[in-house]
Amino acid sequence: MAEHQHAVAPLLALENVSKRFAHPLDTVARIANLFGGKRAPQTVHAVDQVSLAIHAGEVVGLVGESGCGKSTLGRMAVGLHTLSDGKRFWKEEDLTALAPAQQRQRQLAMQLIFQDPYASLNPSLRVRDIIGEAPLAHGLIAAAQQEQTVADLLRKVGLDPAVMRRFPHQFSGGQRARIGIARALAVQPELLVCDEAVAALDVSIQAQVLNLFMRLREELSLTYLFISHDLGVVRHIADRVCIMYLGRIVEAAPTDALFAHANHPYTQALLASAPRLEAKKVQFAPIHGEIPSPLHPPSGCHFHPRCPHAMPRCREEQPLLREVAAGHVSACHLNDRA
Ligand code: SF4
Repeated sequence: MAEHQHAVAPLLALENVSKRFAHPLDTVARIANLFGGKRAPQTVHAVDQVSLAIHAGEVVGLVGESGCGKSTLGRMAVGLHTLSDGKRFWKEEDLTALAPAQQRQRQLAMQLIFQDPYASLNPSLRVRDIIGEAPLAHGLIAAAQQEQTVADLLRKVGLDPAVMRRFPHQFSGGQRARIGIARALAVQPELLVCDEAVAALDVSIQAQVLNLFMRLREELSLTYLFISHDLGVVRHIADRVCIMYLGRIVEAAPTDALFAHANHPYTQALLASAPRLEAKKVQFAPIHGEIPSPLHPPSGCHFHPRCPHAMPRCREEQPLLREVAAGHVSACHLNDRA
């Protein structure tokens, strides 16, 4: 497990979860197949045997470059993506063993907050319906309570209840982010998975929304998985940070320990490069004619094509997460020398 030991069971635990997608054939391959070619769809290895436990009250930051699999992992955490392999536990109950209807019921307790609040809000619905629809549909409130519930939620996220009859386009980006948070809170979740939830906002608005997340954590005893490519944001908000690279968690530690004593060469490179990673696909040098990517994950340590410390065994042997200090794990063969 990519965690230090807790006395109590985690709220959410992912055990050796993987996600593979079929990558559709491009036009050239499809035409080639029409003429007798035998090209098969390729497999994207988005997440590869990741274990992650999140305890009640924690804020766990999940950091990595664009395309590393962190958003896919977040969607697996809340059940928006099925697992190709592995298990998912909620309060020690194996969700993968439940019937779909039971899974959906449990999953109300874990909500995803999206990066782009405008795209995730139905433009034809009024705020009252955007926020009040789910608790009504799931039987959490009666129809007569809907307006009062929505008003309370709007107040909770710092908006005037008088705006509940407006449409999403009548709000600023920061206000839409607050509406998205209110919608998630409407079903009384215990865990919020925030996927780049402040990335689209101006820096000053980002700070306000981050402060809102922290206030709600206190008021509602919330737990967060905070997914971001922005090290500054994660350092500000997280108790513990997991670093993801090409589908795997390569290092996890309490936030202060990670920033003061990064162990993995990839984490060290991240911290040295910039406080804010570029939100773009990472360019890899071609290795043996192939570009390492979720479509072509290299064998052994996924970071070996870029690692200045790579040894011959790094090409063949996958390093396992090992504890390098209390609560601090890292997957690098360099730690085997100690
Ligand atoms: Fe570098 Fe090898 Fe460690 Fe991977 S396992 S980070 S290639 S030294």
